[in-house]
Parts: sequence; C-alpha cells; structure tokens
Amino acid sequence: MCPNRSSLYAATQLLLAPSSHPDRSTRPSSASNKQTPGHNYFHSSSAIPVSLTTGFLFARQETMQIKFLGTGGAFDTDYLNSAAVLAFRGIHLLIDCGFTVFPALVKKNLVQKVSHILLTHLHNDHSGSLANLLLYKSIVEHSKPLVILYPSEHFKQQIVKFLELQVKDPEKYATFVPLEQFADITAVNTFGLHSESLQSYAYIFDEEETRIVYSGDLGKPEALFDKLSKLPPKRTCVFHDISFSPDNDGHTYYKKLLPYLSGPEVFGYHCDPTKNPADNPIRLVFFQQEFMA
Ligand SMILES: [Zn+2]
Repeated sequence: MCPNRSSLYAATQLLLAPSSHPDRSTRPSSASNKQTPGHNYFHSSSAIPVSLTTGFLFARQETMQIKFLGTGGAFDTDYLNSAAVLAFRGIHLLIDCGFTVFPALVKKNLVQKVSHILLTHLHNDHSGSLANLLLYKSIVEHSKPLVILYPSEHFKQQIVKFLELQVKDPEKYATFVPLEQFADITAVNTFGLHSESLQSYAYIFDEEETRIVYSGDLGKPEALFDKLSKLPPKRTCVFHDISFSPDNDGHTYYKKLLPYLSGPEVFGYHCDPTKNPADNPIRLVFFQQEFMA
C-alpha cells in the first residue's frame, strides 16, 4: 500500500539500503548490465538534504519523490500540462515536457536540477517545450546536455525527428541513452491505447520497498494493471490519467479504474479538478499538496 493522505510526505521518502537490492535477483540476466541512474551523473556519495525550498529531499540512491509541475489535460490551461519531476536514485528526472513545462520549471526554480528526461508520447502537451529546455541548458546554463532516456529505437527516431525541426541537430543538445541501460525503470508499451497508431509509454520506477507508476495518457488501463499484478508486491503509487467523460476513449474514465483500487494507491491526473464528480473515490493529484512542486 501507498502511504495514506496524512503520512504521504514522510512515507514517500523511504530510505533504502544502497548496497542491497533484492528485486535485482529476480530480474532477467540482461538486468545485470544495468546502471542505477545516479551512478554516472551524480558525484557526491553523501546523503544530504539540499533543498528546503522545493520540498525535495535529495539523497544519493536513497529516496524517491515525485512532484508534479501541472496536472491538467491538453486544454486545461489553468492547471498546466501534466508533467512531474521525480527525484530518483540521485537524479532529477523530468517526466514529459509539454508546452507549459519549461516556464513552470523556471518559475519553480527546478530547471537547473533536471538532468534526465523521459517522454510518454509526443503530443504537444507532453513535448511542446522540450526544445526550449534543451536550448536553455546549452545557451543560458552552459551545462551538460540533458539525457533523454528512450525506451525503444523507434521512439528515439520519432523524438529526433520531432526535435530536428526546432534545433536542427538534436544530438548536439541532448544525450540519447537507451532506457534499458538504467536499472529500476521499466517502460510499458501502450502503443495505440491513447491515440490510434500513436506510440506511447507508461513507466514504472522501483526502489526496494516502493514503486511509482506513471501512466502517461492512456485510454485503456487494463494492460498496465495486468503488468503491475505480475510484479513482486511492493508499496505502490499509481499516478493515472483520468477522465470524467465516459465518451473520451483516449483517456481513462474514472469508473474504469474502480476495479484496481484495492491494491495500489491510485491518484488521478490529466484533468480539470473542478469537474471531479462527487462519487469519484480516486484522489486527484491536484488536491495533494505533497505531490505538487
Ligand atoms: Zn495529454
């Protein structure tokens, strides 16, 4: 189970033993070649809380914490595009970079922290300010190029093509790294389950005792929850796309999530929270201050 509302903040900062990781013993042999994300990119070995202003407790390989930059759908401009920064194994990983995300990162003073990016799909509300972020890192910060983690070669080519129109040579501004090189992040292929013929992914982030799941835009939740049911049991928080309209088949109508509420803790995002039906038992990320950047 995920932490309940009152203990959410404390319980999302579970400490791990850095040297032991029982879950790895159950991984396929190829997993032995994986790295933890922070291994190559985070040079301090001490676990020190560094930011009181953002709420992040940033400790090497020992905490996982998610902070949303926005929780709205594509047209819910008051709630900004759905995206989150995950503090995970010593890095700050941005999940999605829609058209409101770059300004939100700057405003929240998080832009310098973000070093890695994962994209769920290439709709504009999930990728629209990616080029701005890459250029900012290069031209303004003069920092190392962002690491774009990609779950498949096919999707990498789509990202490159998308960026080529904006920055000409994407590999100059980003370092592309296959996700399979990273331990404890699993991509779930949700091709066509948000939009017809569109490549999309959900992602699962594992620590020793905690698991965070990020659905991305997803009209049909069955495959993701089926995958989760086959994983070793662990305290799990699922952040799931949610819709309040039964006619919207690109996003998950909240009643379709009801069968899955007895296992993981489920939180809804990618919606207008003012339209939340009175009978919806699923908590919305927007109302959980612990999850907001
Ligand atoms: Zn979207």
